[in-house]
Amino acid sequence: MTDQLSKVPQLDGLTSFSDRLKDHQLQLTRGQTSCLQLNTGLLCDLCCRHCHLEAGPKRNEVMGRATMEQVIAHARRASYQAIDITGGAPELVPDLPYLIEQLAPLTPRLMLRTNLTALGRPDKSHLLELFKKHRVVLIASFPATNAGQLEAQRGQGVMDPSLQMLKRLNELGYGVAGSGLQLDLVANPSGAFLPSGQEQAEKKFKRDLGRKWGLEFNQLYIFANMPLGRFLHWLQQSDNLQAYMEKLSGSFNPSTVDGLMCRSQLSVNWDGYLFDCDFNLAAGIPISGNAAHISELHDDPEKESAIAVGEHCYACTAGSGFT
Ligand code: SF4
Ligand code: SF4
Repeated sequence: MTDQLSKVPQLDGLTSFSDRLKDHQLQLTRGQTSCLQLNTGLLCDLCCRHCHLEAGPKRNEVMGRATMEQVIAHARRASYQAIDITGGAPELVPDLPYLIEQLAPLTPRLMLRTNLTALGRPDKSHLLELFKKHRVVLIASFPATNAGQLEAQRGQGVMDPSLQMLKRLNELGYGVAGSGLQLDLVANPSGAFLPSGQEQAEKKFKRDLGRKWGLEFNQLYIFANMPLGRFLHWLQQSDNLQAYMEKLSGSFNPSTVDGLMCRSQLSVNWDGYLFDCDFNLAAGIPISGNAAHISELHDDPEKESAIAVGEHCYACTAGSGFT
């Protein structure tokens, strides 16, 4: 059996991502860090095939109260335009309500990533009112409007509870024009290919969800599958890794570099360590290449500081860019 990779190695015939930047006289450095992203843990009720974090029901990494206090203290010291709570499934983190109550007054935009099914669990119904009270922007992963495709990625039986939760959110006003309660969706392709254009895909999702189920949402974001975690293992085991990386590298677009999310975002993991983005977090590449903890950080990270890169970065710079 092939040993499982934790990140993409340098592959034969492919220019490394850092050399590709140099070829274009580009440097990947921080701009103003305006968004603090909190990865609250790897525990999740689903076990998706493409998960770059290898999250799932058997993971026990979860942000505890002590780390939350350090994050909150930092967010008070540095002011962020946005704070983005992700996981795993953040809904399964026992102290999530405390984190939301504390962070909501500290930023104009508090966001939370949901897979919809965790939010639908009977013991999580109190979270809906809490999100609404604090105008939390919800970003729901919903890979496809086709049940077969969605369940191939996320697991059998996941479509119905996902639709039921979208309906419940619409009833609360989320995703409904004029409500001020934002509900965005995130989709990704089912395999080792690049997604279609965002605008076209959003029209299709709006049409399908509206016609078939009367559902509404605000915006759709499309991401390329990140060659990390479970998707990387699948690429490796199915002998698709080289071809997928060639596709990503061949679609390198230098004009995407300026707008990469790592230039304006700081990512914190469940035990408080810092990363340039959630993908580097999954790959175990610390911020600027050096381990650092949120408790040591007094202000937001310095402008012009170097961003650590790996071969997976090609997934962010392909085509019109995916972060
Ligand atoms: S992709 Fe999201 S919903 Fe799926 S296992 Fe990973 S964290 Fe959970
Ligand atoms: S994976 Fe994407 S967002 Fe993260 S450091 Fe690389 S280019 Fe930036």
